[in-house]
Amino acid sequence: MTSVADIAVCLPISGTLTYRIPDGIAAEITPGKRVVVQVKNKLLAGIVWKVYSARELPGLKPIREIVEPEPVFTPELMKLAEWISDYYVAPLGEVVASMGPPQPGFKQLYRLAKDPGDLTMAILEAEQPEKARILEVMRDGKARSMESLRRKTALKSLGRHLDQLVKQGYLKRQMILKARRPKADGPFNEGASEPVSRHNLTSHQRIAYDAIAGAIDDRAFKVFLLHGVTGSGKTEVYLRAINHALSKGRKALYLVPEIGLTPQVMERVGGVFGGRCAVLHSQLSSGERYRTWQAIRRGQIDVVVGPRSAVFAPLADLGIIVIDEEHDASYKQQESPRYNAREVAIMRAKMAHCTAVLGSATPSMESYFNALNGRYHLCQLPERIAGGKLPQVEIVDLRSCDEAQPVTPRAQSEIIKSVDQKEQVLLFINRRGYSNYIQCTECGYVPKCRNCNVTLTYHLGSRELRCHYCDYVESGPQACPKCAGSKIAYVGAGTQRIEQWLTSLFPDISCKRFDKDAIRRKGKAEEVLADFTSGLVGFLVGTQMVAKGHDFKHVGLVVVANADVTMNLPDFRSAERTFQILTQVAGRAGRGEVPGRVIVQTFNPDHHSLAFVANHDYRGFYHGEIALRRDLNYPPFRRLARIVVEARKQSDAERGATIFSKIANRLARKYPGAFEVVGPARAPLAKVRNVYRWHLLIKAQRTKSLGGFIRRCLGMVPPGHKERFIVDVDPQLLM
Ligand code: ADP
Ligand code: ZN
Repeated sequence: MTSVADIAVCLPISGTLTYRIPDGIAAEITPGKRVVVQVKNKLLAGIVWKVYSARELPGLKPIREIVEPEPVFTPELMKLAEWISDYYVAPLGEVVASMGPPQPGFKQLYRLAKDPGDLTMAILEAEQPEKARILEVMRDGKARSMESLRRKTALKSLGRHLDQLVKQGYLKRQMILKARRPKADGPFNEGASEPVSRHNLTSHQRIAYDAIAGAIDDRAFKVFLLHGVTGSGKTEVYLRAINHALSKGRKALYLVPEIGLTPQVMERVGGVFGGRCAVLHSQLSSGERYRTWQAIRRGQIDVVVGPRSAVFAPLADLGIIVIDEEHDASYKQQESPRYNAREVAIMRAKMAHCTAVLGSATPSMESYFNALNGRYHLCQLPERIAGGKLPQVEIVDLRSCDEAQPVTPRAQSEIIKSVDQKEQVLLFINRRGYSNYIQCTECGYVPKCRNCNVTLTYHLGSRELRCHYCDYVESGPQACPKCAGSKIAYVGAGTQRIEQWLTSLFPDISCKRFDKDAIRRKGKAEEVLADFTSGLVGFLVGTQMVAKGHDFKHVGLVVVANADVTMNLPDFRSAERTFQILTQVAGRAGRGEVPGRVIVQTFNPDHHSLAFVANHDYRGFYHGEIALRRDLNYPPFRRLARIVVEARKQSDAERGATIFSKIANRLARKYPGAFEVVGPARAPLAKVRNVYRWHLLIKAQRTKSLGGFIRRCLGMVPPGHKERFIVDVDPQLLM
């Protein structure tokens, strides 16, 4: 018998790999530690998953090295990783890589293991001059990297010679950590604490808080859905509940949908909990992330704030997990592992016997459904704080308006009114760039991306046409490339067009843009938001990034330039998305003293979600929408998985999708009523970056069986095809 360990290496393989534990380090190899192992002829980092003894197997490779003395994963996180891998049909290695603490860089060095002696050197020089050359360099005893040896010896197949010298026992390999040792005390012990609140809770807040605090006291797994209109004091409830968990000696996790919201949340959280809280997100430098992760792991941090990846913060003894804006699609990762941080958070809470609080003004259909059927506990904050009124919403029909103007006369007169009253104005359009696309008015030609099946977007500053999927760029034409016609129409305003229109009409009022292009530079987002919050900037034009969570105090008017952008997506959630985004953006108006006004421009004024937005009627919207979902067998009545089949050739993608659907249909017939296969069909985004895309949907009656069903189907796909199968469980986008 010998000691072996299963290692999860960061590779797209479904399980773990087994390695022998060398005697010298046996005591230190425990689950959760990071080690170095050899896979094929590469050295990779991996996490020790399981340690056990097994019959001696020939050819079992040894673990090379322990990277860090402390484990980087807790047993709880390992269990969570297994659940994610299973539920989302994702390779364990990819799950671990995406959850894991940042890798401290390490490099491989060579060192002399035994001196060959002059006689051997003489023989080698005659027979194997390359090896002699390497050993000559190495005989001084210094450790060297492969690059340094390459420079010194100028040998061609250096790697092969080195391998042989290691085998013959002349050289040994060594791993050296590149990362600086984590500092003892990072930026964590600063900041004085403010009282958690200067306010007395309203009666609604009190009811919610008492229920949540009670669950924390009971160490019970319980999920609360805090449904509160915008500005109703949800954050206040989160902070008090976190404070309660901390007072019991437990820890807290506070998730926000987007990195952009962390500074604002940290200001409030940090104000209360000072040095006991930390931010964890992917834009920290790897050194910062590594240090923060270690500090959390050691129990030096009580509250972690961050976007979806923060759900993996290695906090022990969690008392509460807050998921703010729980409906937000950003919680879903759009690459493997395609997890939804909201669902992961709930599973984590379940494993840790802790309380989860989902908060939103516009809960997802799934969460509200669970709240009504008793799986979650519903708490409501139906009113704005201090009698604040919800804004007046007016729908303006674009059909009768001059299409050349991005803003209707009706909205323009409201803007003027706001300017006169010294209020700020927020303009929302869910589309960046100048115009959605350009079109020759003579021949009708529309330039499209050569790599993707989408139209190109015109950008003003650079006068370029850009693809928003692959970043392909070409210069904007002066004349139509097809018919040489000179009249080019800029169809569908984007943020740049609105910004230009505003600055030309109101040259004295400062106007800023807030979209992916405008905030590319680090720190720019904070700068723009700070300028708008302080009142330095009068107009803010932005995409959905401005709709989320910001507590602007002086916005009197919100103009939605075109509500149809989200409404017309080929996705069963498009009505839900439209309702959510319009309600959220409308909620930015009238949060201070001034009552707010909202203008929604649309070509589709009779769309059913708009009336509910205007009446602030979430329940009305929910009940209409849930009936549709029931009729059409969509979530929350079914679990959904989407299989995207990608290939370089259209016919390969189509064939792969057809094969998969045949296999799935055959398997589904064995379980009558349990699974339904929809498709295959060309994906709405039929071609991206020169890759053709087909897709199909699988609807499952029960949650548990879906992953297993898909794995069985994938296992039956004959090997050797040119297509790639992408599995997306609980997809948020069907494009
Ligand atoms: P939400 O998170 O629901 O949008 P917030 O928690 O940000 O709402 O509250 C909106 C505003 O009301 C904040 O400025 C907050 O300080 C204030 N506020 C919250 N609760 C109370 C309260 N009980 N009494 C007075 N003001 C409050
Ligand atoms: Zn493209």
